[in-house]
Amino acid sequence: MIEYRNLRVALLGGGSVGAQVARLLLEQRDELAGRVGAALDLVGILVRDVDAERTVDLPRELFTTDAESLILGADVVIELMGGIEPARTYILSAINSGADVVTANKALLAEHGQELFEAADQVGAQLNYEAAVAGAIPIVRPLRDSLAGDRVNRILGIVNGTTNFILDRMDEEGDTLEEALATATELGYAEADPTADIGGYDAAQKAALLASLAFHTTVPLASVYREGITQVTPQQIESARKAGYVVKLLAICERLTDAATGEEGVSARVYPAMVHRSHPLAAVHGANNAVFVEAEAAGSLMFYGAGAGGVETASAVLGDLVSLARRHVVGGPGFAASSHADLPILEIGSVTTRYAVTLEVSDAPGMLASIATVFSDHRVSLELVEQSINPGRPGVDGADPVPSTATLVIGTHEATEAALAATVADLAANEAVITVASVLRVEGV
Ligand code: NAP
Repeated sequence: MIEYRNLRVALLGGGSVGAQVARLLLEQRDELAGRVGAALDLVGILVRDVDAERTVDLPRELFTTDAESLILGADVVIELMGGIEPARTYILSAINSGADVVTANKALLAEHGQELFEAADQVGAQLNYEAAVAGAIPIVRPLRDSLAGDRVNRILGIVNGTTNFILDRMDEEGDTLEEALATATELGYAEADPTADIGGYDAAQKAALLASLAFHTTVPLASVYREGITQVTPQQIESARKAGYVVKLLAICERLTDAATGEEGVSARVYPAMVHRSHPLAAVHGANNAVFVEAEAAGSLMFYGAGAGGVETASAVLGDLVSLARRHVVGGPGFAASSHADLPILEIGSVTTRYAVTLEVSDAPGMLASIATVFSDHRVSLELVEQSINPGRPGVDGADPVPSTATLVIGTHEATEAALAATVADLAANEAVITVASVLRVEGV
């Protein structure tokens, strides 16, 4: 029987995720050794403050603030600190000293992934990051390994639990955004500063990672179009509900034909969109995540579960660790990042989708024809128009009478973002239009 030496595992970060990874590594040492073919020795946990109170009971002597010695003495480095620096420098130094790396750091990978993957490639090191997208849900390795022989056409992801919780409360309880956010904060789903979540930044980082994997193309974070949920109103949620839809913040990665050039390209974008209630993503409630993948041969696949949480995310980290440690033992290169397709990345203006536009208009003869003309001027064709009348009031006690108005909900066929933006600008200037109350994309059709 071949005897393997133990693998030395260094943990950078002992917070929500890191502490759970450390606990599981210690508690399941024998089981993991059996799976890997070598024991995984946790040699240290890098933290800022070794004396801080910890919620997980771990041996005191494992904690250290000496990053250099910890990294240089390790076969595998697991980075669970978060942030860009010093995480980037530590990972580069781990790779250059011959270690394999696991990270859950989506912010770092979305900004500096190319640099880190190239560094790993150069020395034949492995860099795994399953936990960086959708926490416990296996999606990185399914895209990278299981679907490596297929052609992915589209990914629709609910990849941010906080915003899904908020939109779900608005839909189910009739909360305003502020009320739902307050509840999310109270329950610990939202950070003290919720900007990364509600502004769509966190989802955009994940969209960059998913699109890069799915389309074998480096998709930089800066090329991901992003809108958060801050403009979503209870009225939009209600009118979506009446039409049989639910509003979700989606990370969308799509293979598309550029309307202008006719060439194939990819789009990565994040925005709140209407999803029909019969779509599997509509059933994703609370802080859960789900990633819906449409592939040429496999058809539709849905990956669903906990998108965050210390112990849940630790499961994905340990999966990466076991897979990488196994290769470490048996030899051979890991999966390199694949960007050979190098497809052009489409600007948001040339992306096509469907829209639901809600207008408040004057209830006057000829109004509908004038509005339909604005759409047809920009070659946006209409799928449905629903009108409801808001009755006016006569002037009482000297007050001015309030004229009756109409609310129009207009569903379009596929159109480019550029055509829709021009349509909306002209609608806003049309004298029959009192307000453009809402413009929402419709996805998952
Ligand atoms: P966390 O609770 O804030 O823990 C961060 C840990 O890193 C702490 O132990 C901290 O030390 C240590 N640390 C931070 N900066 C350091 C520095 N400059 N030097 C030394 N140690 C440092 O973070 P987390 O929630 O576990 O998240 C870790 C990573 O996992 C992040 O990249 C995050 O995006 C990702 N992730 C988290 C979740 C989740 O549900 N939490 C889900 C998916 C992915 P102290 O303990 O001394 O402060």
